[in-house]
Amino acid sequence: MSDYNNAIFRLATEAEPEDYTGEDGLLYCGKCRQPKEAYFPEGKSLFGRDRHPKECDCQRKRRETLEAADRERKHREEVERLKRKGFTDPAMREWTFENDNGKCPQMHNAHSYVERWEQIKEENHGLILWGNVGTGKSYFAGCIANALMEREVSVCMTNFALILNDLAASFKDRNEYISRLCSFPLLILDDFGMERGTEYGLEQVYNVIDSRYRCGKPLIVTTNLTLEELQNPEDTPHARIYDRLSEMCTPVRFTGENFRKATAQAKMERLKTLLNRKESL
Ligand SMILES: [Zn+2]
Repeated sequence: MSDYNNAIFRLATEAEPEDYTGEDGLLYCGKCRQPKEAYFPEGKSLFGRDRHPKECDCQRKRRETLEAADRERKHREEVERLKRKGFTDPAMREWTFENDNGKCPQMHNAHSYVERWEQIKEENHGLILWGNVGTGKSYFAGCIANALMEREVSVCMTNFALILNDLAASFKDRNEYISRLCSFPLLILDDFGMERGTEYGLEQVYNVIDSRYRCGKPLIVTTNLTLEELQNPEDTPHARIYDRLSEMCTPVRFTGENFRKATAQAKMERLKTLLNRKESL
């Protein structure tokens, strides 16, 4: 970019040793054989000169390479900023399609969610990811968050335990806090239903979900509750929350094996082997 700007404000083109003057009297690049100057139109002149610098192919390529590198640097900075701002746990940065072990049968839905993001956003499609513990629901949501942030879409991934802590700590700024949650084009609430229901807690949970509902932006919730539990709430405060959720979010059932259990099992087996090994010690 700066090269090009300099070229505009520079009056004379600096010649390289291999450059030459063409038959039209202009300076030509010795490498790409394109002119490095052009005449002003209709014989006009500026500061006593009849010509101005012009990019030859090599100069243009060099400028484009610099510009691309600059764009890439700015993009990385923006993605980094979004991830710092949007993830409440740095571990979530690792929950990506690239790191996926391919064992979650629902994962193609996450890919589609990202691919069709513009339409998803437009039509406000949320998801409620439910199923047994350790079936990859949070990982699934994390993949969507990471992939969208890579596209410079601002996402917040948090959970109600943190939200309730934050709200309890900020008596004055509750509204501001909740409107901040609503400012993200996508909000992901992990581990919904784990926070035990005090009246105050449930009220705040409702406030957050209802605010999100009213601002008309998509919400993804992960929960270990069953669909049956969600459809048969124990009391009115829960019913209010679940009603809102079901209006905003389509349920996706996670049926895979328990990854965490499988990982823990594999680790235990490895340790057993290690401890039983007689050599090496
Ligand atoms: Zn050239």
